[in-house]
Amino acid sequence: MNNTQNNTWFKDKLNTEFLQLKHEFNPIEWVETYFLFEGPEGLGIYSKCIELEGAPHKDDKLNLRKLLTEDDLVNPNLLQDFCAYWAENCGGFNGQISFISSTVISREAFEFFIEEKKRKEAQIRLEAQRKNAPIVQELVRLGYSPSPSSFNSDAWTASCLFHKGRHMMWVDTKKNECRCAYGSGVIGYEELKDKS
Ligand SMILES: [Zn+2]
Repeated sequence: MNNTQNNTWFKDKLNTEFLQLKHEFNPIEWVETYFLFEGPEGLGIYSKCIELEGAPHKDDKLNLRKLLTEDDLVNPNLLQDFCAYWAENCGGFNGQISFISSTVISREAFEFFIEEKKRKEAQIRLEAQRKNAPIVQELVRLGYSPSPSSFNSDAWTASCLFHKGRHMMWVDTKKNECRCAYGSGVIGYEELKDKS
């Protein structure tokens, strides 16, 4: 393999923004810029926050989004592939994303992948509801407002019954138990059924 030849495509793109996204993790909103960078953890796709709550933000903290592999180095569509992957997989503390600009993917294409993600999540939630799990019915009866997650059809969230609903707890309809998301506390279906 001729490394020099294969690696030239990304050398031109180092340190240059190829994607800008708005992130929202209720109630916080921020903007991140995405670029190829030889960072502390190696050559990869990194991002950093450049705007926070509508005001310019200087942040030296880099988020490593993808470490490049040998295969990535010879993939001329790496940046487009990353955009598609990220549109479909960004979540958790990274929040909801929306497109601002890109030099490698169109708004339409990026939004298509976000819609795909939403469609898949809606399907998972529908599947979870169809299972009509007894532990979920008990949580409804007790007023803990269970809601299907988008991770898999056995994972629900509900108000935490260990901490007076101050945050959420995880409900696993396969293990038939509820678990506080932030501290200690596990309760099984049988115990829940006896509660009033
Ligand atoms: Zn809790």
